Amino acid sequence: MVSFLAESKSDMTSSGTAAIKRSGVDRRELLVLAAATVSSAALSPPLYAAGRWTYDLEPKEIDEGVYLLRGADEHLSTKNGGNIANIVFMETGEGVVLFDTGPSRLYGEELKQVIANTTDEPVIRVIVSHAHPDHYLGNQVFEDLPIESLAKVRDVIADIGDLFTDNMYRLVDVWMRGTRTVVPTKSLSPGRERIGRRELEFIALDGHSQADLALYDHGRRLLLAADLVFMDRAATTPHADLQNWQRSLDQLQQLPIDTLVPGHGPVTAGYRAIEQTRGYLSWLGETFRNAADQGLVEAEVNSLQIAAPFNELAVVQEEFIRSVSHLYGPIALDALDPIE
Ligand SMILES: [Zn+2]
Repeated sequence: MVSFLAESKSDMTSSGTAAIKRSGVDRRELLVLAAATVSSAALSPPLYAAGRWTYDLEPKEIDEGVYLLRGADEHLSTKNGGNIANIVFMETGEGVVLFDTGPSRLYGEELKQVIANTTDEPVIRVIVSHAHPDHYLGNQVFEDLPIESLAKVRDVIADIGDLFTDNMYRLVDVWMRGTRTVVPTKSLSPGRERIGRRELEFIALDGHSQADLALYDHGRRLLLAADLVFMDRAATTPHADLQNWQRSLDQLQQLPIDTLVPGHGPVTAGYRAIEQTRGYLSWLGETFRNAADQGLVEAEVNSLQIAAPFNELAVVQEEFIRSVSHLYGPIALDALDPIE
């Protein structure tokens, strides 16, 4: 295991080797690597099964013609292959709308196969919700179609997408083989649009990241909230603006919602997931402001107790410490008395 990871990390220092890695999956090489360096306990089935790497994707129909591929409520790792985000595809009668493409080329390939096994409709729209790589690195498998996102999402992926991709290689390793950054090719216009039998609305928001797209089905009162909403799993904040995020949640809360698919975590009915996300973000902001008022340094904030009920969220301890590193510095600076 050690040599496996060490090899991947040293590879990341060289764009040449990274390019080789992206050139394709060499199955024999993977098998040799797996046998030499990964114990069966480290990567248990079904991720490495029947002599091949697989995400073993199983679509679940969560609403009429709407299928969810549920990500693990974990951090990115070699164990889950980066499969931590919820990916959704929906039939419209005219073709499939795909909402996010997953964390790697391999995932994208399996996703494409799953869609073909599930429905006779061809994929007609490929939508990327936001510029976080666990949501869009399957793009290259769908390059024969326009890949659509908000303009800002395109800009961010064009600017720093390769850094995200390299980071994914470091964290997820062999699962990323053959994966490269594919920038969305088409800017999506927010607003209502009839696609087949569905009256859909593309809603442009922000706050979780620089630009966050939600997709709402008016007929089904179904919201695909992407990472604006987390359920039973602590929110991630690397590019968050807490105020804007809360404002976006206010806007989503105006919609009549029967079914909500969060970016991470289980599907829920009604507004529970929005309220939970709002509660956690409020607690996070308040905790940081109180800590800043007391003059705490980051290391001290890291060791603060996580209040109930948020202490029961998946991966909350790790996400809290990450949020301290993302968000606490500016809040602590703001709290300093101005020098006269
Ligand atoms: Zn995200």
